[in-house]
Order: sequence, then C-alpha cells, then structure tokens
Amino acid sequence: MMITGKTQLLGVMGDPIGHSLSPVMHNRAIAALGVDAVYVAFPVKPADLATALAGFAAVDVLGLSVTIPHKQAVIPLLAEVSEVAQAVGAVNTLWRTDRGWSGTNTDVDGFIAPLRSLRESWQGATALVLGTGGAARAVIAGAQRLGCDRVVVAGRDRAKLAALQHHFAPPNPLAIALQTVLWDDLDSVLPTTDLLVNSTPVGMHPLEHDSPLSIGQLALLPATAVAYDLIYTPRPTRFLQWAADRELRAIDGLEMLVQQGAVALTQWLGQPAPIAVMRSALETFLHHA
Ligand code: NAP
Repeated sequence: MMITGKTQLLGVMGDPIGHSLSPVMHNRAIAALGVDAVYVAFPVKPADLATALAGFAAVDVLGLSVTIPHKQAVIPLLAEVSEVAQAVGAVNTLWRTDRGWSGTNTDVDGFIAPLRSLRESWQGATALVLGTGGAARAVIAGAQRLGCDRVVVAGRDRAKLAALQHHFAPPNPLAIALQTVLWDDLDSVLPTTDLLVNSTPVGMHPLEHDSPLSIGQLALLPATAVAYDLIYTPRPTRFLQWAADRELRAIDGLEMLVQQGAVALTQWLGQPAPIAVMRSALETFLHHA
C-alpha cells in the first residue's frame, strides 16, 4: 500500500491499545476496497482525551474507533450521540460532521448479526446475560432489539445489577423490563434460557482454562439453546467447547468484532465493507498469533 499526500487517516484510540486487532482488520479491508486511507492505533491516556479528540479533528482524521477506557468518557465531548449509543451508554465509533464529532455504538449491531442469521425471529425468547459490565449493556440492548421477550442478567454484585436495571428503565430509548439474578442463583433460569451470553472475561487469558458455567449447568439448558461467548480468543473457549459437546449452537466473539467493525467502516467510507475480507484477516492473524 502506498501512503500518499492525500491518504486519509482512520484509527482506534484506547489505553492500552497495542493489543487491538482493529488495525489488522481495517487495513486489510481498506486495501481490498482500494481506498487511499490508513487505520492506526493511537494510545490516548484518559487525561488527554479532549486534547486528542480536538487534535484528531484539527489534522482531518476521518473517523475513529473508541475502546477502553474512553467509551463512556468521550460522550460529553461529542456534538451528536446516536440513540443506540445513548441506550447503551457507550460510544465505540466516531466520525466528523460540520458541528463536531458524531458518535454511535456498533457493538449492538455486531452482537446481533450472527443471531439474525440463525433464527428469523427471537420473539418469545429468553436471553440470559452473564456479567454486568460494558459489553453486557450492548448485549442487553441487542437482545431488546432482537425482540427477546425476557432478558435476565446474572451478576455477582447486587448493586451493579440494580444499576443496570435502572439504566434500562424509561426514558432509555431501548427501555426493557430487565430481570436480574445473583450469580449463585442462576441455575433456576437455565431450563428456560434460549440464548445464553457470556459477557464476562472468564475463559480468556489469564482465565483461559475456566468457564463461567460448569458442564452440569450447561446440561440444564434446553437442547435448542444458543451459547454465545463474546470472547474471541482462545477459539473455542472452554464454555463453547462444552456447549458444542452438548450439541448446542455455539457462537464466539469473532463475528461480533468483524460485524461491529464493518458497520463502522461503512459509516466512514460511505460504501459497503468487505466483511469476508475482514473476517479472514482476523482469522489468519489469530491463527498465527
Ligand atoms: P467489564 O466491563 O470489565 O465487565 C466484566 C463483567 O464480568 C463484570 O460484570 C464482572 O463482574 C464480570 N466477571 C468478571 N469475572 C467474573 C467471574 N469470575 N465470575 C462472574 N462474573 C465475573 O468487561 P467488558 O468490557 O464488559 O468485557 C467483557 C468480555 O467481553 C471480555 O472478555 C471482552 O473481551 C469481551 N468483549 C468482546 C467484544 C467483541 O467484539 N467480541 C466486545 C466487547 C467485549 P464484577 O463487576 O462483579 O467484577
């Protein structure tokens, strides 16, 4: 790829950022499209966020991905925040407008994409979400968008569960009557669960030998249940290996990563993202990592 005087700049800002897979995925997509642009990882400390954002605008950066720890902190600095980002309470994609930076959250679309191709309708379904962190909020919004009738969140901390319930109450644009269950009591929900989502880091390094649920707990799920792990390395996680052993449908986090990136790239470039190229770039990279 030739960097020219007209090469447009895209990037991801976070802290730390060196582990990000987004440059691999986006630069392969940019090359496949033949666009004169480059996507770079920018380390931005929390105290420098406003300065960095103003600087990115000053040097005509076209668009940015936003990752930990800036997904919430960036919101007050934006001229516009999409409804879905307001609903989640986090922004992961920025682009420039005449008024300033505009932000949205593409994790929700990314999470939903593989589920839409699995079942035409999720109406009547119960989703059980493990974890109460940032990813869990995108998953809850996704389950609401899919049309799940019942969304239950399992967590270790009563106060965090209550805060999530409050977050998703009206006037949240994706308001939902969220049910909560303490981690030690979640077995009672498993027999009626259609979609089980791990949005905890249990199963990824340094917990790669662990699973959020035991084999015995997975045995309580209906045979038609879908097991979804947001983790994308290792592949499969122990949780998904056990789910596959039970012949449940299993989805890992790679497709969410690809699809959230595809929505962002489409927004920045104004043309459809090459999803298969992005998926293959990540698969190849992770295979050799
Ligand atoms: P986070 O904000 O730190 O939240 C993690 C949640 O997991 C918290 O609710 C935490 O509970 C819970 N947890 C941690 N250890 C636990 C344990 N041993 N037992 C039960 N619960 C436990 O993290 P996040 O940003 O939501 O990310 C969660 C996972 O999703 C990570 O693995 C991340 O890589 C993945 N992710 C994937 C994608 C993708 O595109 N595929 C996107 C975003 C995130 P406490 O609050 O009680 O500690």
